[in-house]
Amino acid sequence: MSATQQEPGTAYGLYIDGQHVQARTGETMTSVNPATGRPWYTLANAGAEDVDAAVRSARAALSAREWRDMKPLDRARLLRRVADGVARRADQLAVLETTDNGKLIREMRAQMRALPSLWEYYAGWADKVHGSVVPTDPATLTYLRREPVGVVAVVVPWNSPLAIASTKIAPALATGNTVVVKPSEHTTASMMEFVAILEEAGLPAGVVNVVTGAGSSAGHALVAHPDVDLITFTGGTETGRAIARIAADRPIRSVLELGGKSPNIVFADADLDRALPGLVAGIFAACGQTCVAGSRAFVQRPIYDEVLSRLEERTRRMRLGDPLSEDTDIGPVAFEGQMARVLEYIDVGRHDGGTVRVGGARAVDGDLADGYFVEPTIFEGVRNDSRLAREEVFGPVLAVMPFDDDDDVVAAANDSLFGLAAGVWTTSLSRAHRMAHRLDAGTVWVNTYRALSPTTPFGGFKASGYGKESGQESIAEYTRVKTVWLDLSDDAPADALVMRR
Ligand code: NAD
Repeated sequence: MSATQQEPGTAYGLYIDGQHVQARTGETMTSVNPATGRPWYTLANAGAEDVDAAVRSARAALSAREWRDMKPLDRARLLRRVADGVARRADQLAVLETTDNGKLIREMRAQMRALPSLWEYYAGWADKVHGSVVPTDPATLTYLRREPVGVVAVVVPWNSPLAIASTKIAPALATGNTVVVKPSEHTTASMMEFVAILEEAGLPAGVVNVVTGAGSSAGHALVAHPDVDLITFTGGTETGRAIARIAADRPIRSVLELGGKSPNIVFADADLDRALPGLVAGIFAACGQTCVAGSRAFVQRPIYDEVLSRLEERTRRMRLGDPLSEDTDIGPVAFEGQMARVLEYIDVGRHDGGTVRVGGARAVDGDLADGYFVEPTIFEGVRNDSRLAREEVFGPVLAVMPFDDDDDVVAAANDSLFGLAAGVWTTSLSRAHRMAHRLDAGTVWVNTYRALSPTTPFGGFKASGYGKESGQESIAEYTRVKTVWLDLSDDAPADALVMRR
């Protein structure tokens, strides 16, 4: 790690075949600290030639004996050393990410301190990906091998840069693939520092390569590269659609973790002392910049007025400020364009008949004026078919809507393009399960929100994407199954159960 906090002027290049190199394009981009509005490092804007070099490096590493023939137990040890490296630098990485994307240091530190457990989890898988023997004919041995898919393109967003990248890189490496990563142009620093951890852990050159820069150049060149075998992407739904079309043309596999418009549902029988912090944290903890943001709060009518006024009161007390300060409750949004987008949605909400109960503007008091701060905003009177309720804002904007009963709220919650996650707050056990079964979402949380673990599969339904990250299910995404037939007979061919094609 070169420093706890990068000085303005630090210039990151690319990481290809174990070397830090300059982009052949000679182009750079600037990353801006969203809390201050000041530039703090430059990154290379890779072009097609750079990406080609990275993919060729990953392809060569895939068949190099050092990686191909590494014993699974040694791969497991290597991943554990990565976990140790992340643990040693967790607090420094947290500072880098907070400075890059404006999320609270409290949150990023907790995320970085938890990250080693993800690497340990996949270290555990490295020597447990079994094949199987399939019964066909007594004179035939038919067995299945689970093999790496090949060269994996990893394209990730800015909101949890290293954590999201790790949910893809760790299973890819555990199962023997090689990787080219494209971090977000808004948050490149932690990935460029992370490669030092990979090197120290002893990862052979070329197994992980990093290309940086704009989505339209570096990102597109990577996903469109003809020698990539699998694309795993987390980001916006529009980008995901474009990537799915490219993957379909080849055709190759893709895993897409896209946007959401998650309902967070409070029943009249809920424990409000738990539900209220759950609603507030569900939308405002990451300044709304999480794919699972509980951006539609549905509140049962008998408690609607009480919940709304208590929500309003809690939200007014939130302290906006420097995300590196332990006292701050809400930091800036990640970059200027994102702030403009959030403010535009607030206008749309008003225009479509919503009423702002709290917030509703850019925050400009004192030092805040230099950064990209938006007041935490609560709307009421938003129709579930309006743009504010249907489109992902990815900012600190909550729409609160009343409902009458189970059927009413299930219909409204499921009436969405997305199906990433949902929250339910109730003290009724039977209602909790009924709702969990009926909600159209890849994850349902009951009396909690935003809980994730390396052991549990995560992934959306509908326009929130397909494929699973974490858990046993993720192993299938990064492996392919090969069927091997051996005729054991020493006279006539065995074909009693065999259908020839
Ligand atoms: P984005 O789609 O703009 O960018 C994501 C990544 O894709 C970036 O690295 C970007 O450079 C790259 N990219 C952009 N255009 C590309 C193209 N044409 N080809 C290849 N790569 C391209 O998303 P973002 O603004 O960085 O992130 C916010 C979005 O991510 C939100 O919609 C959010 O919901 C989603 N997200 C989803 C999850 C999840 O797990 N479901 C998690 C976090 C964020």
